[in-house]
Parts: sequence; C-alpha cells; structure tokens
Amino acid sequence: EAATGDFELTIMHTNDTHGNLDKVANRVSLVKQIRAEKPNNLLLDGGDVFSGTLYFNEFKGQADLEFMNMMKYDAMTFGNHEFDLGGSEDGHAALKAFVEGAEFPLVAANTDFSGDANMADLQNETYTADYNNGEIYSGIIKEVDGEEIGIFGLTTEETTSISSPGDITFSDYIAAAEEAVAAFEAEGINKIIAVTHLGFDDSTEYDNDQLLAAAVEGIDVIVGGHTHKKLSEPFFFTGNAEPTVIVQANEYNKFLGQLDLTFDEDGVITSQTGKLHEVGAEGVTADPEAAEALVKYSDKIKEVKNQSTGATAEVFLNGGRNAGGVRTAETNLGNLITDGMLAAAKKIDADTVIALQNGGGIRASINVGDITVGEVLTTMPFGNALAIMSLTGAELKTALEHSVRQFPEENGGFLHVAGLEVSFDPTQPAGSRVTEVFVKNGDVRTALDPSKTYKVATNTFTAKGGDGYEVFAKAYNDGRVSEPGNIDFQMFIDHAKSLGKVKPMLENRINPK
Ligand code: ATP
Ligand code: ZN
Repeated sequence: EAATGDFELTIMHTNDTHGNLDKVANRVSLVKQIRAEKPNNLLLDGGDVFSGTLYFNEFKGQADLEFMNMMKYDAMTFGNHEFDLGGSEDGHAALKAFVEGAEFPLVAANTDFSGDANMADLQNETYTADYNNGEIYSGIIKEVDGEEIGIFGLTTEETTSISSPGDITFSDYIAAAEEAVAAFEAEGINKIIAVTHLGFDDSTEYDNDQLLAAAVEGIDVIVGGHTHKKLSEPFFFTGNAEPTVIVQANEYNKFLGQLDLTFDEDGVITSQTGKLHEVGAEGVTADPEAAEALVKYSDKIKEVKNQSTGATAEVFLNGGRNAGGVRTAETNLGNLITDGMLAAAKKIDADTVIALQNGGGIRASINVGDITVGEVLTTMPFGNALAIMSLTGAELKTALEHSVRQFPEENGGFLHVAGLEVSFDPTQPAGSRVTEVFVKNGDVRTALDPSKTYKVATNTFTAKGGDGYEVFAKAYNDGRVSEPGNIDFQMFIDHAKSLGKVKPMLENRINPK
C-alpha cells in the first residue's frame, strides 16, 4: 500500500554484454515494453560492453553503442574489458570514440583518466545534475518525476592486472563510494545508486559488491557486473541501518534485469522486487527498427566469419576453460599458438628460443575443419603485439612459479610454452613448485641456467605485467623488451597457413608430478 511521500522507481539493468548483439533487437523491445508500463524508470549498464565477439573486433564498440543509444541508456560505468585495447597501436582510441558517441554519461568515481592524453579531456570529477552526454563524471544527479537520484560508478582495481589501462588508474573503491555518498547527501539527495564493475562475490583480495554494501552506509542500490552473476532475485543486504539492494544480470545479453522499488520520503527502500527477463525467450519479439539497424553489422560479421585462413585443423584445438583447459594445463592449441609466436619471433631475432602465452588470452577452441578468420579472432580477440624479452634463467623460473602457483585452480596467467619443458610438484607450496626446467631446441634439451640470459617471446599484455607477472614488468621497465609490432592472430594465421594442415599434440611441455 503506497503511503504519501512514497516514490516508485523501476531500474532496468545489464552488464557484461561483451559484444553479443545477435539478439539485441529483442532487448530493445523488452526495454520499450517496460518503459511503457513503468514511467519512472532508469536504464543502467554495469560495464564490459567491450570484447568477446566479432562484433567487437570489427566495430570496436560502435555497433553496441548504436543500440545503447537507441534504448536511451541513462548511465554506464566502465568494466575492465573497456580497457582491453589500451595496449594496441591506437591506445584507447576506441574507448574514446565510445564515450564521445554515447548519448548518455559514463560514471566513474574511482577511475582517473588524467594520465591518458586521449581520455583526460572527457573526465569531470564532479557530482552534478548539469552533465553532458558523451562525457565522464564521478557521479550524476538524475531527476525522475521530480525526485533527484544520485548515480555514481566504480570499476575494479583488478583492471590494472587483467586488462591494459596504461596510464589510467583506479583508486580505492570504498573511499570513492564514501565520497560519492557524501557529495550526494550534501545536495540533499537520499536515493543513491552505485553502478559497479566489481563483481558480486569476486575475490575479497580486491573488491566486490557485498563488501561495498557492508562498508558504505547510504547506497540504496548496487547495479553490478564483472562476475557475470545470474541473480534471479535481487540480493537484499540488511546489515546496515538502511538496506541495500544488489542486482546483476548474468552476461552476453542473455537477460535484461528489472528492479521495482518503493522509497519512503526519507529515501529508504520499503519494498523491492526484481527479476531477469530472458532476452531470447519465446514470445519476446525483435524490435523492427533495431532488427533493421542490426543488418549492416551482422552481414559484415557473416562475411568475416566465413573467410578461410587457408589452414585446416585435423584435430580439435582445445582452447576451453574447463578442467584440462587453457587455464590449468598444456593444450594442443596452446602449443600451436606458442609455436607460431616462436616462429615469428625467430624471424625477427634469431636468438629467441622460448615463447609464452597466457592461458587467459586464449578465449575459445577451434573445431576440426577449415580454420576461418572468424574462429581465430574469437580465440585471440585482443590484437596483442609480440614482445621479445631478455630474461635471466632465474627470472624465467620465477615466472614459471607464478604460472603454476594456483594449480589446479584456474588461472588466466597459466603459461603455455614453446621451447621449454617444465615439471612442477603441485603438493609443494606456491613459489617453490617448479622442479625441473629444460630449454628445448628440436631434440637438444639443456637445463635452464639461472645466470644465463634468454630471449623469450610473449604478448605485450603479459610482458607489461598482466596477470601479476611482476618479473616481466620489471624487464619491461628496464628496457629489456622489444616490440617488433607483429600481432598475435596474424602470427597464428601465418604459422597455421605455413603448416597447411595442423595437428598439434600434447608433448609433455608442462608436467605436474
Ligand atoms: P570478465 O571477462 O567478465 O571480465 P573476468 O574478469 O573473470 O570476467 P576473464 O574472462 O577471467 O575475466 O579474463 C581475464 C583474463 O583475460 C586475464 O587473467 C588475462 O589472462 C586475460 N586477458 C585480459 N586482457 C588480455 C590481453 N590484452 N591479452 C591477453 N590476455 C588478456
Ligand atoms: Zn565481463
């Protein structure tokens, strides 16, 4: 029963859509339908629009943006993947174009863009009702039916190690949230929404939404992302004086979240119900305008997908993430990728003897048969450049310890190797597991010499310290890394083509025992 002074608000939300546009027209029709039923509404996105499909490889976020603008999103925060192209030749040009083209503001209270020449001008470190679309704010004040609502954004600090933000930095999320709440409350605003890319139940080593709700009083709603959590019902946190509702809508445009709220006159939530609408469910029709707008993108994707690389896979190339997959074990695809990287690096610097590829950078398997460009780009979507590092044997061993430290748990930093044979004992404590390392050149096998210097190929993401490889970051900062400019998927295509028919095997390159 609505009391006087009550305010009803519906929040529609998405997160981690990752370039999945095949069913975007269905999302458009759901949004239009809910807007028609619920006049007091907001539409928010918790980040990670970038990376994941050929739509992203081809259109760099602009295809997604056309539909986000069509749906009239009210605000979005940055996910870690928004920074994925920071290591590419164009730096954050795609992200800049995305922000500038957005017909909504981006909210980012703990992200500092000032170090990046392209992005710096777009950021305003303010909490304001007087905002412009296509710019970044710590927080915005949005009026809905005469009520002011504060909306601010937070991005996981882990972005520094799992993506490529470069000179863009992330500060403590709790401190930023406290500042945001204080800034809104100083304006008399008592309805506050955090749009976050922290994860619902992500490792407490960094940050997550439940820790945020518990630590900061005054946040009414957290619209989350990052852990791809399917919260079929909102999570209602009641540990503070006033409750906080946390929502997250799984991933890949599978769901549109809807949260219906009632606030009392003090801005306290007195009722909440939420659900996830399945975007691809029977009965959800495609919006005709959106479906028509999609054709120009989907036609192009079909074309790219079907182009042949000129190579054929005679066996399944395992890029899976499950047990025995690329984040825990040697796989034949990991071997093929590192072989290709080593072959390319040797052409540039004949002294290169080893190649390393992070398992987290291998994003999909490749099926038996003709290998298409589309498959390769899906497997290697980051467009990473080649890096050739000069490392001592001791440094390399430190890196290999880092690679297997979490085994048998999955770890994006798990390294696939060419030119090496590594044995480790998983029963030993992390940091002292690696038992034997041999450098292999054809049939010649020599023990790794800790004091000798080796030329080691990898991708720039890993060479700059991605996945926590501090020993590589140090070499990078010391100027011991060269970047000849070769791109990962191109090296792979060249290598596969030179083989014609590929049939990589497991070769005991990485041995737990
Ligand atoms: P989400 O994909 O939604 O962000 P998540 O944070 O768990 O979820 P993962 O899918 O685990 O992300 O991807 C993180 C992993 O991706 C990192 O551990 C790293 O190995 C890999 N990765 C990220 N960026 C790059 C890059 N530019 N090059 C190579 N690998 C990368
Ligand atoms: Zn994601």
